Amino acid sequence: MSVTASIDGNTLAAVIDGRAFAAGLRARVAAAVPVFAAATGRAPGLAVVLVGDDPASHVYVRNKGLATKEAGMASFEHRLPADVPEAELLALVATLNADDAVDGILVQMPCPKPISEARVIAAVDPAKDVDGFHPVNAGRLASGLPGLVPCTPSGCLMLLQDRLGDLSGLEALVIGRSNIVGKPMAALLVQASCTVTVAHSRTRELAAHVARADIVVAAVGVPELVRGSWLKRGATVIDVGMNRIAGADGKTRLVGDVNFAEAMAVVGAVTPVPGGVGPMTIACLLRNTLLAAHARAGLDAPAL
Ligand code: NAP
Repeated sequence: MSVTASIDGNTLAAVIDGRAFAAGLRARVAAAVPVFAAATGRAPGLAVVLVGDDPASHVYVRNKGLATKEAGMASFEHRLPADVPEAELLALVATLNADDAVDGILVQMPCPKPISEARVIAAVDPAKDVDGFHPVNAGRLASGLPGLVPCTPSGCLMLLQDRLGDLSGLEALVIGRSNIVGKPMAALLVQASCTVTVAHSRTRELAAHVARADIVVAAVGVPELVRGSWLKRGATVIDVGMNRIAGADGKTRLVGDVNFAEAMAVVGAVTPVPGGVGPMTIACLLRNTLLAAHARAGLDAPAL
């Protein structure tokens, strides 16, 4: 799903419309919910746990709850104070693991210190781990086995396949090696038969790696790090970065990890920020919840 633009007769890159693609995926998930409910007598359920009062996390959790209900699923929200003992949070996760109405559990990160995020992630039943962060699901992904895949890289792969079709043989560069984006993204691209390079803060000559890539996925957190002059003509660029910077007018604005205006003059297609990868993350969370619900009920996964 993309829109091509031109200035003075020069064709610019296609803008990959993540919002439109995500809306379509959400509609497909919503259409599958009544079918699941007819087979099982209940709607799929997603439990979201928020610890503390980080304002951005509050917004994410509210949006996830709204999207869950909009898809016709059951939404369970649990809010705990910032100073909740880790044992209490782990006890809540254990209760949700045992609750049959809950198919997906998401503990909103970051958790306030001294809570160990690794312990919290490991406490979630891998069958309900709709974030795909549990080491069992990470291992399944690395081994090419079915499992729950992290939402953001899953959404990036869908946008790439929608734009390019078969990815096999393409040179892909993933910038960033986090457990939530970079590493699972690289694993998905390997599975899609790309030749994959993973860059990170110690990578030498990043620009030279970017210049070789047919696909660039930037998941760094450095505003406009990737310059247009680095990019290969015709490449497809997925910008995961979400960086708030101060504009000339004193207001803040959201930019990605790629200089969008420069990229538009060089590449074949690029995701905007906002409106690219971001909407895909929530849509893939709903998809994962639906898939987890089917797997737990012993039903075949619907085609989405
Ligand atoms: P993260 O955990 O901070 O990881 C950032 C990665 O970038 C690290 O691997 C780091 O390398 C690497 N890096 C940092 N500076 C670099 C540089 N100058 N050159 C090359 N690599 C560099 O971040 P994350 O959680 O993966 O998120 C990355 C970005 O995506 C952030 O802007 C985040 O807000 C955004 N994000 C968006 C969504 C969405 O839904 N749109 C979802 C998740 C994340 P080292 O490993 O060597 O430190």
